[in-house]
Amino acid sequence: MAAMTSKSKRRSATARPSCVLIWTDMEGISCITRWEQVSANAPAYAEGRALYTEDVNAAVRGAKKAGFEEIYVVDGHGAGGAYSFNSFLKDKLEPGATYVFGHRWGCFVEPLRAGECVVVLVGAHARAGVADGVLCHTMSSEAWYHATLNGAPIGEVGFAAAIAGSFGAPVVFVSGDAATCREARELIGKQLVCAEVKRGITRYSAACLPPAQSLRLIEDGVCEALSRSMSEMPKPFVPRAPMTLRVELTSPDKVKDYIGRAGIEIVGPREVEARGRSFWDLWNRFWHH
Ligand SMILES: [Zn+2]
Repeated sequence: MAAMTSKSKRRSATARPSCVLIWTDMEGISCITRWEQVSANAPAYAEGRALYTEDVNAAVRGAKKAGFEEIYVVDGHGAGGAYSFNSFLKDKLEPGATYVFGHRWGCFVEPLRAGECVVVLVGAHARAGVADGVLCHTMSSEAWYHATLNGAPIGEVGFAAAIAGSFGAPVVFVSGDAATCREARELIGKQLVCAEVKRGITRYSAACLPPAQSLRLIEDGVCEALSRSMSEMPKPFVPRAPMTLRVELTSPDKVKDYIGRAGIEIVGPREVEARGRSFWDLWNRFWHH
């Protein structure tokens, strides 16, 4: 008998996945409200790193409690310099997971290629321009003003979901502020489990749960999301193909980074576009190149 492909296994409604890929970012972490807490060399970065590591550990504990043994955690926050994608406090990390350092946000997909994997987002933030989105931005607060996919606004939660969806994997859990959870639920659906660790008041202020409470929310939420069968989990997010990603940059000089890049078209003074059949293709051209 021919071996079952990972895709057909994944479609089995009663099956449970065996692997979880935890993508993390820093802006949506408990009690974080300032760039200074997420930027290497800023005085408040030490405090931010400690909070970040605790939220991530809570997610790993939730995955272990749900019975997962294959747990990958990818530090996806570009803190700057030697600390880009390298912010966790190593000696404080929860055992029982593999931690990936030094790989750009949204680019480590090996476990997704192998199949049977679902995605958890810890510390996610709202897309650029959301009034109550704490530290909201899309990819780069300096270079990207706004992005759309097939004409609909999209941020990093959407990108993560679309990358996972390219490999047939769903995003099952998101932690972040209330604006991020709202954005994620609209995109992924009601089956998504969200941990709202803070409610943005402005871009740089928030009403926050104390970590002792938000860590519990994250641990319990991840455990709940991962204890479900595939049929009870959200569907993978697969945008209609062929798809168009359009990025409005912050100023015309930013266009120079895209000149001569295969598959990317400059369509306005500060607008660039890529088209593709799978989001991963398109993403590769835009960001991962
Ligand atoms: Zn970040």
